[in-house]
Amino acid sequence: MSFNSLGLSDSLLKAVGKQGYTTPSPIQEKCIPVVLQGKDVLASAQTGTGKTAGFTLPLLQILSKRQQSQQRPIRSLILTPTRELAAQILENVKQYSTFLDIRSTVIFGGVNQNPQVKALKNGVDVLIATPGRLLDLHQQGLLRLDRVEILVLDEADRMLDMGFLRDIKRILALLPSKRQNLLFSATFSKDIKQLANGFLHHPVLVEATPENTTAEKVNQKIYHVDKVKKRAIIIKLIKDGNWQQVLVFTRTKHGANNLCKKMLAQNISAAAIHGNKTQGARTKALAGFKDGAIRVLVATDIAARGLDIPLLPHVVNFELPNIPEDYVHRIGRTGRAGANGIAISLVAHDEAPYLRDIEKLLKQSLPTGVIEGFEQGPAPAIDPNASKQNNHRRKPKKKNGDGNWNRNKKSHSNNRNRNNSNRRSN
Ligand code: AMP
Repeated sequence: MSFNSLGLSDSLLKAVGKQGYTTPSPIQEKCIPVVLQGKDVLASAQTGTGKTAGFTLPLLQILSKRQQSQQRPIRSLILTPTRELAAQILENVKQYSTFLDIRSTVIFGGVNQNPQVKALKNGVDVLIATPGRLLDLHQQGLLRLDRVEILVLDEADRMLDMGFLRDIKRILALLPSKRQNLLFSATFSKDIKQLANGFLHHPVLVEATPENTTAEKVNQKIYHVDKVKKRAIIIKLIKDGNWQQVLVFTRTKHGANNLCKKMLAQNISAAAIHGNKTQGARTKALAGFKDGAIRVLVATDIAARGLDIPLLPHVVNFELPNIPEDYVHRIGRTGRAGANGIAISLVAHDEAPYLRDIEKLLKQSLPTGVIEGFEQGPAPAIDPNASKQNNHRRKPKKKNGDGNWNRNKKSHSNNRNRNNSNRRSN
């Protein structure tokens, strides 16, 4: 199939051609015609599937064909969980609207609001926003949402994970009731389905990849290692393999900073991105990583969410995520657009239950390997006096009383809630 058969205007086809795209991705093939028909969409799509063009291209077409009023009210609102994703979407919207009379801008927190307010005052057709700053500017009377015709919730699962449900509901209440709604999510939890049922009207279900599967082009490998040796191992992997572009995931901001310092001490250029970094530092780190000045980007899940780094060859899970879906998101950063990628996970004894949860979600066991000289030693004896906080994984086991480390549904969601309190700031 070619882009020509999707019903897009010449201006959009020209912009797509300028990007070098020749064939629409599966999500684009399915999504574009449905959105053009004005239908609501519930789409299951991860980053890397081309979903942004999947909603942006038809959205731009609809807006450019409808009459514009002189004041240029906001006619389309794209909500995203993170600043990086918001900035990336704006970049795409600008590229695709090169040959259209469409104005777009982005607003997110963590930076001075004045330039954003100024852009809004000039009139904006497409606004990309994170929920907090959007509500903030609305409360200050600096923007209106009563003329929005198309709403997009991108990475809705992540927005809920970050605790944005209430903000989303408040934003929905500010929009006109007659509008088109598009919801994109990598996973479909009960909460997402509930949210979708609350505001989508007879949505068309669009799926890019089967739920909870990982990209086929990603070569996944698990190394069972000792926790204390992880830093030495990752440095060995990077140096021996002469890896030039590696995205490394840690579970905490503190862990990201520490690992970054260790890399720098070994003369490996590195930067960390997480919620405690200023927007300027995050943007600079990402730009350096993309253009090759920085070899290793160490990130927490939230900060890395939705990052579009074309042809990223290596992803390393320095620590496994405790939410199995995050594994799918993390390794989705590599093996994109037909390129091969390598995703390596360093798994210490206490992370074995996380691995089991991931394999259960993927419905496959992941291949394991051994790094010579770094074979895993026996599991350390469990300290009966260890604090609950440091030993939280044991709790569900005790609760279940069945000797099975896999969490049941209830303990899983409890765990999720516990984690959510940290997530918003990651
Ligand atoms: P996304 O999933 O929207 O983050 O897109 C992932 C990457 O795929 C981005 O770098 C896009 O520029 C690129 N892309 C989107 N659509 C296509 C296409 N039809 N052909 C090739 N690359 C594409």
